[in-house]
Amino acid sequence: MSTAHTTDEFRMPRIVIIGGGFSGIGMAIRLRAEGIDDFVVLERAASHGGTWRDNSYPGCACDVQSVLYSFSFAPNPDWTRTFSPQAEIWAYLRRCATEYDIDRHFVFGETVQAAAWDDERQQWRVQSSTRSWRPEIVIMATGGLSDAVMPRIEGLPTFRGTMFHSAQWRHDVELTGKRVAVIGTGASAIQFVPRIQPQVAQLAVFQRTAPWIMPRRDKPIAAWRKQVYRHVPILQRAHRAATYLLREALHLPFRNARAARVVEWIAARHMQAQVADSALRAKLRPGYRIGCKRILVSDDYYPALAQPNVTLVTDAIASIEAAGVRTADGALHAVDVIIVGTGFRPTDPVLAPHICGRMGESLAETWQGSPRAYMGTSHAGFPNFFSLMGPNTALGHSSVLLMIEAQVEHVIGVLQYMVSRHIAAAEPDAVAQRAWVASVDARLQATTWNAGGCSSWYIDATGRNSTLWPDGVGRFRRTVARIDPREYRWMPRHEARARDLVDA
Ligand SMILES: Cc1cc2nc3c(=O)[nH]c(=O)nc-3n(C[C@H](O)[C@H](O)[C@H](O)COP(=O)(O)OP(=O)(O)OC[C@H]3O[C@@H](n4cnc5c(N)ncnc54)[C@H](O)[C@@H]3O)c2cc1C
Repeated sequence: MSTAHTTDEFRMPRIVIIGGGFSGIGMAIRLRAEGIDDFVVLERAASHGGTWRDNSYPGCACDVQSVLYSFSFAPNPDWTRTFSPQAEIWAYLRRCATEYDIDRHFVFGETVQAAAWDDERQQWRVQSSTRSWRPEIVIMATGGLSDAVMPRIEGLPTFRGTMFHSAQWRHDVELTGKRVAVIGTGASAIQFVPRIQPQVAQLAVFQRTAPWIMPRRDKPIAAWRKQVYRHVPILQRAHRAATYLLREALHLPFRNARAARVVEWIAARHMQAQVADSALRAKLRPGYRIGCKRILVSDDYYPALAQPNVTLVTDAIASIEAAGVRTADGALHAVDVIIVGTGFRPTDPVLAPHICGRMGESLAETWQGSPRAYMGTSHAGFPNFFSLMGPNTALGHSSVLLMIEAQVEHVIGVLQYMVSRHIAAAEPDAVAQRAWVASVDARLQATTWNAGGCSSWYIDATGRNSTLWPDGVGRFRRTVARIDPREYRWMPRHEARARDLVDA
Protein backbone atom coordinates (compact mmCIF):
# COMPACT_ATOMS: atom_id res chain seq x y z
CA MET A 1 0.00 0.00 0.00
CA SER A 2 1.31 3.40 -0.90
CA THR A 3 0.60 6.66 0.80
CA ALA A 4 0.81 8.97 -2.23
CA HIS A 5 -2.30 10.51 -3.82
CA THR A 6 -3.04 11.32 -7.44
CA THR A 7 -4.67 14.69 -8.06
CA ASP A 8 -8.13 13.32 -8.86
CA GLU A 9 -8.01 11.02 -5.85
CA PHE A 10 -7.06 13.79 -3.47
CA ARG A 11 -8.31 12.87 -0.02
CA MET A 12 -9.67 9.59 -1.35
CA PRO A 13 -9.22 6.98 1.37
CA ARG A 14 -6.94 4.05 0.61
CA ILE A 15 -9.24 1.60 2.33
CA VAL A 16 -13.03 1.34 2.24
CA ILE A 17 -14.76 -0.76 4.88
CA ILE A 18 -18.39 -1.55 4.04
CA GLY A 19 -20.55 -1.86 7.16
CA GLY A 20 -20.25 -0.59 10.71
CA GLY A 21 -21.24 -3.48 12.95
CA PHE A 22 -18.86 -5.47 15.16
CA SER A 23 -16.78 -6.43 12.09
CA GLY A 24 -16.42 -2.95 10.63
CA ILE A 25 -15.73 -1.39 14.02
CA GLY A 26 -13.22 -4.11 14.96
CA MET A 27 -11.41 -3.69 11.63
CA ALA A 28 -11.33 0.09 11.96
CA ILE A 29 -9.93 -0.05 15.49
CA ARG A 30 -7.22 -2.48 14.40
CA LEU A 31 -6.24 -0.31 11.42
CA ARG A 32 -5.83 2.66 13.74
CA ALA A 33 -3.73 0.56 16.11
CA GLU A 34 -1.53 -0.27 13.13
CA GLY A 35 -1.07 3.44 12.41
CA ILE A 36 -3.28 3.32 9.32
CA ASP A 37 -5.53 6.34 9.21
CA ASP A 38 -6.42 6.52 5.56
CA PHE A 39 -9.72 4.67 5.57
CA VAL A 40 -13.44 5.23 5.63
CA VAL A 41 -16.31 3.08 6.94
CA LEU A 42 -19.41 3.33 4.76
CA GLU A 43 -22.55 2.46 6.72
CA ARG A 44 -26.00 2.47 5.14
CA ALA A 45 -27.81 3.24 8.40
CA ALA A 46 -27.72 6.39 10.50
CA SER A 47 -25.49 4.94 13.21
CA HIS A 48 -23.07 2.10 13.83
CA GLY A 49 -24.06 -1.11 15.55
CA GLY A 50 -25.29 -3.49 12.81
CA THR A 51 -27.21 -6.39 14.36
CA TRP A 52 -27.45 -4.57 17.68
CA ARG A 53 -28.87 -1.40 16.18
CA ASP A 54 -31.42 -3.16 14.00
CA ASN A 55 -32.75 -5.87 16.29
CA SER A 56 -34.61 -3.91 18.94
CA TYR A 57 -37.43 -6.39 19.52
CA PRO A 58 -38.53 -6.96 23.13
CA GLY A 59 -36.19 -9.39 24.87
CA CYS A 60 -33.40 -9.12 22.28
CA ALA A 61 -30.11 -10.18 23.86
CA CYS A 62 -26.99 -12.16 22.99
CA ASP A 63 -27.06 -15.91 23.52
CA VAL A 64 -23.33 -16.23 24.16
CA GLN A 65 -22.20 -14.88 27.54
CA SER A 66 -21.33 -11.16 27.33
CA VAL A 67 -17.94 -11.76 28.88
CA LEU A 68 -17.09 -13.60 25.65
CA TYR A 69 -19.42 -11.69 23.36
CA SER A 70 -17.30 -8.53 23.48
CA PHE A 71 -13.99 -7.50 21.92
CA SER A 72 -10.96 -9.17 23.53
CA PHE A 73 -9.22 -5.78 23.68
CA ALA A 74 -12.19 -3.93 25.20
CA PRO A 75 -13.50 -5.81 28.23
CA ASN A 76 -16.60 -4.29 29.76
CA PRO A 77 -16.90 -4.58 33.56
CA ASP A 78 -20.37 -3.02 33.41
CA TRP A 79 -22.38 -5.77 31.72
CA THR A 80 -25.54 -5.99 33.77
CA ARG A 81 -26.45 -9.59 32.95
CA THR A 82 -24.77 -12.82 31.93
CA PHE A 83 -26.41 -12.38 28.51
CA SER A 84 -26.72 -8.65 28.04
CA PRO A 85 -29.70 -7.03 26.37
CA GLN A 86 -29.53 -5.41 22.94
CA ALA A 87 -29.48 -1.79 24.16
CA GLU A 88 -26.39 -2.48 26.27
CA ILE A 89 -24.52 -4.21 23.45
CA TRP A 90 -25.38 -1.40 21.06
CA ALA A 91 -24.19 1.19 23.61
CA TYR A 92 -20.96 -0.83 24.10
CA LEU A 93 -20.28 -0.73 20.36
CA ARG A 94 -20.87 3.02 20.13
CA ARG A 95 -18.61 3.52 23.15
CA CYS A 96 -15.84 1.46 21.53
CA ALA A 97 -16.12 3.57 18.36
CA THR A 98 -15.73 6.76 20.40
CA GLU A 99 -13.03 5.53 22.78
CA TYR A 100 -10.89 4.16 19.98
CA ASP A 101 -11.42 7.37 18.00
CA ILE A 102 -12.84 5.84 14.85
CA ASP A 103 -16.10 7.83 14.73
CA ARG A 104 -14.53 10.35 12.37
CA HIS A 105 -13.92 7.59 9.80
CA PHE A 106 -17.64 6.79 9.52
CA VAL A 107 -19.88 8.00 6.73
CA PHE A 108 -23.47 7.19 7.64
CA GLY A 109 -26.42 6.84 5.31
CA GLU A 110 -24.11 5.65 2.54
CA THR A 111 -25.18 2.33 0.99
CA VAL A 112 -22.55 0.63 -1.12
CA GLN A 113 -24.21 -0.46 -4.34
CA ALA A 114 -21.35 -1.88 -6.38
CA ALA A 115 -17.59 -2.33 -6.50
CA ALA A 116 -15.37 -3.32 -9.41
CA TRP A 117 -11.62 -3.91 -9.60
CA ASP A 118 -9.81 -1.75 -12.13
CA ASP A 119 -6.83 -3.90 -13.00
CA GLU A 120 -5.04 -1.20 -14.93
CA ARG A 121 -5.13 1.29 -12.06
CA GLN A 122 -4.96 -1.45 -9.43
CA GLN A 123 -7.80 0.17 -7.57
CA TRP A 124 -11.37 -0.54 -6.70
CA ARG A 125 -14.19 1.58 -8.08
CA VAL A 126 -16.80 1.66 -5.36
CA GLN A 127 -20.19 3.21 -5.94
CA SER A 128 -22.26 4.20 -2.92
CA SER A 129 -25.58 6.05 -2.71
CA THR A 130 -24.22 9.54 -3.18
CA ARG A 131 -20.67 9.22 -4.51
CA SER A 132 -17.90 7.07 -5.88
CA TRP A 133 -14.65 6.01 -4.26
CA ARG A 134 -11.30 4.74 -5.57
CA PRO A 135 -9.71 2.79 -2.74
CA GLU A 136 -6.88 0.28 -3.09
CA ILE A 137 -8.45 -2.05 -0.55
CA VAL A 138 -12.09 -2.99 0.05
CA ILE A 139 -13.17 -4.81 3.21
CA MET A 140 -16.72 -6.14 3.17
CA ALA A 141 -18.15 -6.17 6.70
CA THR A 142 -21.82 -6.33 5.81
CA GLY A 143 -22.66 -9.16 8.22
CA GLY A 144 -24.29 -12.52 7.66
CA LEU A 145 -27.51 -11.61 9.41
CA SER A 146 -28.16 -8.07 8.28
CA ASP A 147 -30.75 -8.60 5.55
CA ALA A 148 -34.08 -9.78 6.91
CA VAL A 149 -36.01 -12.37 4.94
CA MET A 150 -39.78 -12.32 4.53
CA PRO A 151 -41.21 -15.80 3.99
CA ARG A 152 -42.67 -16.71 0.62
CA ILE A 153 -46.28 -17.37 1.58
CA GLU A 154 -49.18 -17.06 -0.81
CA GLY A 155 -51.32 -14.00 -0.15
CA LEU A 156 -48.77 -12.26 2.12
CA PRO A 157 -49.48 -8.75 0.74
CA THR A 158 -53.23 -9.18 1.12
CA PHE A 159 -53.14 -9.14 4.94
CA ARG A 160 -55.32 -6.27 6.21
CA GLY A 161 -53.70 -5.91 9.62
CA THR A 162 -50.13 -4.91 10.50
CA MET A 163 -47.20 -7.10 9.56
CA PHE A 164 -43.50 -6.64 10.32
CA HIS A 165 -40.23 -8.58 10.62
CA SER A 166 -38.67 -8.96 14.07
CA ALA A 167 -35.49 -7.25 12.81
CA GLN A 168 -37.58 -4.19 11.91
CA TRP A 169 -39.71 -4.12 15.04
CA ARG A 170 -42.59 -1.63 14.87
CA HIS A 171 -42.44 0.03 18.29
CA ASP A 172 -45.32 2.25 17.18
CA VAL A 173 -47.67 -0.75 16.94
CA GLU A 174 -49.55 -1.29 20.19
CA LEU A 175 -49.84 -5.03 20.88
CA THR A 176 -51.85 -4.76 24.10
CA GLY A 177 -55.16 -6.59 23.76
CA LYS A 178 -54.45 -7.60 20.14
CA ARG A 179 -54.64 -10.99 18.46
CA VAL A 180 -51.08 -11.67 17.28
CA ALA A 181 -49.54 -14.34 15.04
CA VAL A 182 -45.83 -15.13 15.21
CA ILE A 183 -44.40 -16.95 12.20
CA GLY A 184 -41.24 -18.85 13.04
CA THR A 185 -39.72 -20.29 16.20
CA GLY A 186 -36.05 -19.41 15.76
CA ALA A 187 -33.57 -17.55 17.95
CA SER A 188 -35.39 -14.20 17.74
CA ALA A 189 -38.94 -15.53 18.20
CA ILE A 190 -38.07 -17.45 21.34
CA GLN A 191 -36.74 -14.19 22.82
CA PHE A 192 -39.73 -11.95 22.03
CA VAL A 193 -42.61 -14.44 22.49
CA PRO A 194 -42.24 -14.49 26.32
CA ARG A 195 -42.14 -10.66 26.34
CA ILE A 196 -45.27 -10.05 24.29
CA GLN A 197 -47.33 -12.97 25.64
CA PRO A 198 -48.51 -11.20 28.83
CA GLN A 199 -49.54 -8.15 26.77
CA VAL A 200 -51.55 -9.63 23.93
CA ALA A 201 -55.10 -11.03 23.97
CA GLN A 202 -54.26 -14.11 21.92
CA LEU A 203 -50.98 -15.36 20.56
CA ALA A 204 -50.74 -17.96 17.78
CA VAL A 205 -47.18 -19.23 17.33
CA PHE A 206 -46.67 -20.97 13.98
CA GLN A 207 -43.97 -23.60 14.23
CA ARG A 208 -42.64 -25.39 11.14
CA THR A 209 -39.87 -27.30 12.91
CA ALA A 210 -39.47 -27.55 16.67
CA PRO A 211 -36.15 -26.15 17.92
CA TRP A 212 -33.97 -27.84 20.53
CA ILE A 213 -33.84 -25.51 23.52
CA MET A 214 -31.29 -25.60 26.33
CA PRO A 215 -31.51 -23.80 29.69
CA ARG A 216 -30.08 -20.28 29.48
CA ARG A 217 -29.42 -19.50 33.14
CA ASP A 218 -29.30 -15.77 32.56
CA LYS A 219 -28.91 -13.71 35.70
CA PRO A 220 -28.03 -10.18 36.79
CA ILE A 221 -24.35 -9.52 37.49
CA ALA A 222 -23.95 -8.39 41.10
CA ALA A 223 -22.60 -4.91 41.83
CA TRP A 224 -19.65 -6.32 43.80
CA ARG A 225 -18.64 -8.44 40.84
CA LYS A 226 -18.62 -5.39 38.54
CA GLN A 227 -16.42 -3.58 41.05
CA VAL A 228 -14.02 -6.51 41.16
CA TYR A 229 -13.85 -6.63 37.36
CA ARG A 230 -13.28 -2.87 37.21
CA HIS A 231 -10.42 -2.88 39.74
CA VAL A 232 -8.87 -6.28 39.02
CA PRO A 233 -9.41 -6.70 35.25
CA ILE A 234 -7.37 -9.89 35.16
CA LEU A 235 -10.23 -11.64 36.98
CA GLN A 236 -12.65 -10.77 34.18
CA ARG A 237 -10.06 -11.98 31.68
CA ALA A 238 -9.84 -15.25 33.62
CA HIS A 239 -13.63 -15.54 33.52
CA ARG A 240 -13.55 -14.92 29.77
CA ALA A 241 -10.87 -17.57 29.28
CA ALA A 242 -12.86 -20.11 31.31
CA THR A 243 -16.04 -19.30 29.33
CA TYR A 244 -14.09 -19.67 26.09
CA LEU A 245 -12.82 -23.12 27.07
CA LEU A 246 -16.23 -24.24 28.24
CA ARG A 247 -17.81 -23.18 24.97
CA GLU A 248 -15.05 -24.91 22.99
CA ALA A 249 -16.18 -28.13 24.68
CA LEU A 250 -19.73 -27.42 23.46
CA HIS A 251 -18.44 -28.03 19.99
CA LEU A 252 -18.13 -31.76 20.70
CA PRO A 253 -21.83 -32.69 20.30
CA PHE A 254 -21.76 -31.43 16.72
CA ARG A 255 -19.41 -34.23 15.70
CA ASN A 256 -19.89 -36.90 18.35
CA ALA A 257 -23.20 -38.79 18.53
CA ARG A 258 -22.74 -39.86 22.15
CA ALA A 259 -22.07 -36.27 23.28
CA ALA A 260 -25.09 -35.14 21.22
CA ARG A 261 -27.31 -37.63 23.06
CA VAL A 262 -26.19 -36.20 26.42
CA VAL A 263 -27.11 -32.67 25.27
CA GLU A 264 -30.44 -33.94 23.89
CA TRP A 265 -31.15 -35.48 27.28
CA ILE A 266 -30.48 -32.14 29.05
CA ALA A 267 -32.75 -30.31 26.58
CA ALA A 268 -35.51 -32.94 26.96
CA ARG A 269 -35.33 -32.63 30.77
CA HIS A 270 -35.55 -28.85 30.41
CA MET A 271 -38.76 -29.19 28.40
CA GLN A 272 -40.18 -31.81 30.77
CA ALA A 273 -39.56 -29.49 33.74
CA GLN A 274 -41.18 -26.48 32.07
CA VAL A 275 -44.11 -27.95 30.12
CA ALA A 276 -46.64 -29.99 32.10
CA ASP A 277 -49.02 -30.67 29.18
CA SER A 278 -47.91 -33.85 27.40
CA ALA A 279 -49.74 -32.92 24.16
CA LEU A 280 -47.83 -29.63 24.02
CA ARG A 281 -44.59 -31.46 24.78
CA ALA A 282 -45.24 -33.80 21.86
CA LYS A 283 -45.56 -30.82 19.52
CA LEU A 284 -42.38 -29.28 20.90
CA ARG A 285 -40.21 -32.40 20.60
CA PRO A 286 -37.75 -31.98 17.68
CA GLY A 287 -37.52 -34.82 15.18
CA TYR A 288 -33.86 -34.46 14.29
CA ARG A 289 -30.45 -34.74 15.95
CA ILE A 290 -29.59 -31.81 18.24
CA GLY A 291 -27.32 -29.23 16.62
CA CYS A 292 -28.57 -29.81 13.07
CA LYS A 293 -30.38 -26.49 13.37
CA ARG A 294 -29.17 -23.75 15.68
CA ILE A 295 -29.43 -24.85 19.34
CA LEU A 296 -31.45 -22.22 21.16
CA VAL A 297 -31.23 -21.16 24.80
CA SER A 298 -34.17 -19.93 26.84
CA ASP A 299 -35.59 -20.09 30.35
CA ASP A 300 -38.91 -18.45 29.56
CA TYR A 301 -40.07 -19.60 26.10
CA TYR A 302 -41.63 -22.91 27.16
CA PRO A 303 -43.48 -21.35 30.15
CA ALA A 304 -44.85 -18.64 27.82
CA LEU A 305 -46.17 -21.26 25.39
CA ALA A 306 -47.97 -22.99 28.25
CA GLN A 307 -50.07 -19.89 29.02
CA PRO A 308 -53.83 -20.03 28.25
CA ASN A 309 -53.72 -17.18 25.69
CA VAL A 310 -51.11 -18.99 23.55
CA THR A 311 -51.68 -21.60 20.83
CA LEU A 312 -48.79 -23.46 19.25
CA VAL A 313 -49.86 -24.16 15.67
CA THR A 314 -47.95 -26.95 13.96
CA ASP A 315 -50.13 -27.28 10.87
CA ALA A 316 -48.35 -25.88 7.84
CA ILE A 317 -49.30 -22.37 6.75
CA ALA A 318 -51.24 -22.58 3.47
CA SER A 319 -51.74 -18.86 2.85
CA ILE A 320 -52.16 -15.45 4.38
CA GLU A 321 -55.52 -13.80 3.87
CA ALA A 322 -56.95 -10.38 4.67
CA ALA A 323 -58.13 -11.58 8.08
CA GLY A 324 -55.23 -13.77 9.15
CA VAL A 325 -53.35 -17.01 8.58
CA ARG A 326 -54.94 -20.04 6.87
CA THR A 327 -53.35 -23.39 7.73
CA ALA A 328 -53.27 -26.56 5.64
CA ASP A 329 -56.08 -28.13 7.72
CA GLY A 330 -58.38 -25.34 6.43
CA ALA A 331 -58.55 -23.37 9.70
CA LEU A 332 -58.37 -19.57 9.59
CA HIS A 333 -56.44 -18.03 12.48
CA ALA A 334 -57.85 -14.50 12.57
CA VAL A 335 -55.30 -11.95 13.84
CA ASP A 336 -54.66 -8.21 13.99
CA VAL A 337 -50.87 -8.34 13.78
CA ILE A 338 -48.43 -10.76 12.16
CA ILE A 339 -44.83 -10.75 13.39
CA VAL A 340 -42.43 -12.52 11.09
CA GLY A 341 -39.49 -14.17 12.82
CA THR A 342 -38.05 -16.04 9.86
CA GLY A 343 -34.50 -14.77 10.03
CA PHE A 344 -32.00 -13.62 7.44
CA ARG A 345 -30.21 -14.61 4.23
CA PRO A 346 -26.64 -15.54 5.22
CA THR A 347 -25.87 -17.69 2.17
CA ASP A 348 -26.97 -15.12 -0.36
CA PRO A 349 -25.34 -11.74 0.40
CA VAL A 350 -27.15 -8.88 -1.31
CA LEU A 351 -23.91 -7.26 -2.51
CA ALA A 352 -22.39 -10.42 -4.03
CA PRO A 353 -23.80 -9.89 -7.56
CA HIS A 354 -22.42 -6.33 -7.54
CA ILE A 355 -18.79 -6.97 -6.56
CA CYS A 356 -16.74 -7.63 -9.69
CA GLY A 357 -13.17 -8.93 -9.64
CA ARG A 358 -10.14 -9.01 -11.93
CA MET A 359 -11.87 -10.95 -14.71
CA GLY A 360 -15.07 -8.89 -14.55
CA GLU A 361 -17.01 -11.72 -12.93
CA SER A 362 -19.07 -10.96 -9.84
CA LEU A 363 -18.66 -12.74 -6.53
CA ALA A 364 -22.11 -14.27 -7.02
CA GLU A 365 -21.10 -15.60 -10.46
CA THR A 366 -17.94 -17.22 -9.12
CA TRP A 367 -19.86 -18.71 -6.20
CA GLN A 368 -22.69 -20.13 -8.31
CA GLY A 369 -25.01 -20.30 -5.34
CA SER A 370 -22.41 -21.45 -2.82
CA PRO A 371 -20.18 -18.81 -1.18
CA ARG A 372 -16.50 -19.78 -0.95
CA ALA A 373 -13.41 -17.92 0.23
CA TYR A 374 -9.85 -18.55 1.32
CA MET A 375 -9.99 -18.71 5.12
CA GLY A 376 -13.43 -17.13 4.83
CA THR A 377 -11.60 -13.86 4.28
CA SER A 378 -10.03 -13.38 0.84
CA HIS A 379 -11.13 -14.34 -2.64
CA ALA A 380 -9.17 -15.66 -5.66
CA GLY A 381 -9.74 -13.30 -8.60
CA PHE A 382 -10.63 -10.39 -6.30
CA PRO A 383 -7.41 -8.51 -5.51
CA ASN A 384 -7.24 -6.48 -2.30
CA PHE A 385 -10.72 -7.59 -1.32
CA PHE A 386 -11.56 -9.09 2.05
CA SER A 387 -14.75 -10.28 3.71
CA LEU A 388 -15.28 -10.39 7.46
CA MET A 389 -17.77 -13.00 8.65
CA GLY A 390 -17.32 -14.45 5.17
CA PRO A 391 -18.14 -17.99 4.00
CA ASN A 392 -17.77 -20.76 6.62
CA THR A 393 -16.91 -18.48 9.53
CA ALA A 394 -20.15 -18.63 11.55
CA LEU A 395 -20.34 -20.76 14.70
CA GLY A 396 -22.90 -22.94 16.38
CA HIS A 397 -21.25 -23.00 19.78
CA SER A 398 -19.35 -19.80 20.60
CA SER A 399 -18.91 -16.09 20.01
CA VAL A 400 -18.38 -15.08 16.39
CA LEU A 401 -16.42 -12.08 17.62
CA LEU A 402 -13.52 -14.48 18.13
CA MET A 403 -13.75 -15.38 14.44
CA ILE A 404 -14.04 -11.74 13.37
CA GLU A 405 -10.94 -10.79 15.38
CA ALA A 406 -8.97 -13.65 13.79
CA GLN A 407 -10.05 -12.51 10.31
CA VAL A 408 -9.07 -8.94 11.12
CA GLU A 409 -5.58 -10.21 12.07
CA HIS A 410 -5.39 -12.02 8.75
CA VAL A 411 -6.22 -8.83 6.83
CA ILE A 412 -3.63 -6.88 8.83
CA GLY A 413 -1.05 -9.60 8.11
CA VAL A 414 -1.66 -9.32 4.36
CA LEU A 415 -1.50 -5.51 4.48
CA GLN A 416 1.77 -5.61 6.44
CA TYR A 417 3.28 -8.01 3.93
CA MET A 418 2.22 -5.74 1.07
CA VAL A 419 3.68 -2.63 2.67
CA SER A 420 6.97 -4.31 3.57
CA ARG A 421 7.50 -5.52 -0.03
CA HIS A 422 5.94 -2.62 -1.96
CA ILE A 423 3.24 -4.88 -3.33
CA ALA A 424 0.27 -3.27 -5.07
CA ALA A 425 -2.27 -6.06 -4.98
CA ALA A 426 -2.77 -9.42 -3.32
CA GLU A 427 -5.28 -12.22 -3.73
CA PRO A 428 -5.24 -15.83 -2.62
CA ASP A 429 -3.91 -18.40 -5.01
CA ALA A 430 -6.87 -20.21 -6.62
CA VAL A 431 -5.36 -23.64 -5.86
CA ALA A 432 -4.81 -22.70 -2.20
CA GLN A 433 -8.38 -21.44 -1.97
CA ARG A 434 -9.78 -24.64 -3.48
CA ALA A 435 -7.71 -26.72 -1.05
CA TRP A 436 -8.96 -24.66 1.89
CA VAL A 437 -12.59 -25.02 0.85
CA ALA A 438 -12.19 -28.76 0.21
CA SER A 439 -10.72 -29.30 3.65
CA VAL A 440 -13.55 -27.31 5.30
CA ASP A 441 -16.13 -29.32 3.33
CA ALA A 442 -14.50 -32.61 4.29
CA ARG A 443 -14.50 -31.72 7.99
CA LEU A 444 -18.13 -30.62 7.82
CA GLN A 445 -19.22 -34.00 6.44
CA ALA A 446 -19.20 -35.76 9.78
CA THR A 447 -21.02 -33.01 11.67
CA THR A 448 -24.69 -32.91 12.68
CA TRP A 449 -25.11 -29.74 10.60
CA ASN A 450 -24.56 -31.76 7.44
CA ALA A 451 -25.79 -35.19 8.53
CA GLY A 452 -28.36 -34.41 11.23
CA GLY A 453 -31.47 -34.98 9.11
CA CYS A 454 -32.91 -31.47 8.95
CA SER A 455 -32.96 -28.49 6.64
CA SER A 456 -31.42 -25.31 8.03
CA TRP A 457 -30.28 -21.84 7.03
CA TYR A 458 -26.70 -23.09 7.23
CA ILE A 459 -27.20 -24.93 3.94
CA ASP A 460 -27.13 -22.94 0.69
CA ALA A 461 -29.08 -23.34 -2.56
CA THR A 462 -26.62 -25.99 -3.81
CA GLY A 463 -27.00 -28.10 -0.67
CA ARG A 464 -23.56 -27.16 0.66
CA ASN A 465 -22.95 -25.83 4.16
CA SER A 466 -21.29 -22.53 3.28
CA THR A 467 -22.08 -20.88 6.59
CA LEU A 468 -20.39 -22.71 9.46
CA TRP A 469 -16.84 -23.33 10.53
CA PRO A 470 -16.51 -27.07 11.20
CA ASP A 471 -14.14 -27.05 14.19
CA GLY A 472 -13.43 -25.27 17.43
CA VAL A 473 -12.59 -21.58 17.37
CA GLY A 474 -8.99 -22.29 18.41
CA ARG A 475 -8.21 -24.05 15.15
CA PHE A 476 -9.54 -21.14 13.10
CA ARG A 477 -7.58 -18.61 15.12
CA ARG A 478 -4.34 -20.58 14.85
CA THR A 479 -4.65 -21.11 11.10
CA VAL A 480 -6.05 -17.78 9.97
CA ALA A 481 -3.85 -15.45 12.00
CA ARG A 482 -0.81 -16.86 10.14
CA ILE A 483 -0.06 -15.66 6.60
CA ASP A 484 1.56 -18.19 4.31
CA PRO A 485 3.00 -16.03 1.49
CA ARG A 486 3.02 -19.06 -0.83
CA GLU A 487 -0.76 -19.19 -0.70
CA TYR A 488 -1.18 -15.65 -2.04
CA ARG A 489 -0.48 -14.07 -5.42
CA TRP A 490 1.45 -10.84 -4.79
CA MET A 491 1.27 -8.40 -7.67
CA PRO A 492 3.76 -5.60 -8.27
CA ARG A 493 2.63 -2.15 -9.21
CA HIS A 494 1.61 -1.80 -12.87
CA GLU A 495 3.31 0.90 -14.83
CA ALA A 496 0.12 2.95 -15.31
CA ARG A 497 -0.43 3.03 -11.56
CA ALA A 498 3.23 3.81 -10.85
CA ARG A 499 3.05 6.73 -13.30
CA ASP A 500 0.04 8.14 -11.42
CA LEU A 501 1.97 8.06 -8.20
CA VAL A 502 5.06 9.72 -9.66
CA ASP A 503 2.90 12.44 -11.27
CA ALA A 504 1.23 13.19 -7.99
C1 LIG B 1 -30.80 -11.16 17.13
C2 LIG B 1 -29.39 -11.65 16.94
C3 LIG B 1 -28.67 -12.11 18.03
C4 LIG B 1 -27.37 -12.57 17.86
N1 LIG B 1 -26.69 -13.04 18.94
C5 LIG B 1 -25.44 -13.50 18.78
C6 LIG B 1 -24.70 -14.03 19.89
O1 LIG B 1 -25.18 -14.10 21.00
N2 LIG B 1 -23.46 -14.49 19.67
C7 LIG B 1 -22.88 -14.45 18.43
O2 LIG B 1 -21.75 -14.88 18.29
N3 LIG B 1 -23.54 -13.93 17.38
C8 LIG B 1 -24.79 -13.46 17.52
N4 LIG B 1 -25.46 -12.96 16.43
C9 LIG B 1 -24.78 -12.85 15.14
C10 LIG B 1 -24.33 -11.38 14.91
O3 LIG B 1 -24.85 -10.97 13.70
C11 LIG B 1 -22.83 -11.27 14.97
O4 LIG B 1 -22.41 -11.67 16.25
C12 LIG B 1 -22.26 -9.86 14.76
O5 LIG B 1 -23.08 -8.86 15.29
C13 LIG B 1 -21.99 -9.62 13.29
O6 LIG B 1 -21.40 -8.37 13.15
P1 LIG B 1 -21.06 -7.81 11.69
O7 LIG B 1 -20.47 -6.48 11.86
O8 LIG B 1 -20.29 -8.82 10.92
O9 LIG B 1 -22.48 -7.72 10.96
P2 LIG B 1 -23.70 -6.77 11.29
O10 LIG B 1 -23.83 -6.55 12.72
O11 LIG B 1 -24.86 -7.36 10.56
O12 LIG B 1 -23.31 -5.39 10.63
C14 LIG B 1 -23.27 -5.23 9.23
C15 LIG B 1 -23.43 -3.75 8.93
O13 LIG B 1 -23.26 -3.55 7.53
C16 LIG B 1 -24.21 -2.60 7.08
N5 LIG B 1 -24.41 -2.84 5.64
C17 LIG B 1 -24.92 -3.93 5.05
N6 LIG B 1 -24.93 -3.77 3.71
C18 LIG B 1 -24.40 -2.54 3.47
C19 LIG B 1 -24.16 -1.80 2.29
N7 LIG B 1 -24.42 -2.30 1.07
N8 LIG B 1 -23.61 -0.56 2.39
C20 LIG B 1 -23.32 -0.02 3.60
N9 LIG B 1 -23.54 -0.70 4.77
C21 LIG B 1 -24.07 -1.93 4.70
C22 LIG B 1 -25.45 -2.90 7.92
O14 LIG B 1 -26.31 -1.79 7.96
C23 LIG B 1 -24.81 -3.22 9.27
O15 LIG B 1 -24.68 -2.07 10.07
C24 LIG B 1 -26.76 -12.53 16.58
C25 LIG B 1 -27.51 -12.08 15.48
C26 LIG B 1 -28.81 -11.64 15.66
C27 LIG B 1 -29.57 -11.16 14.46
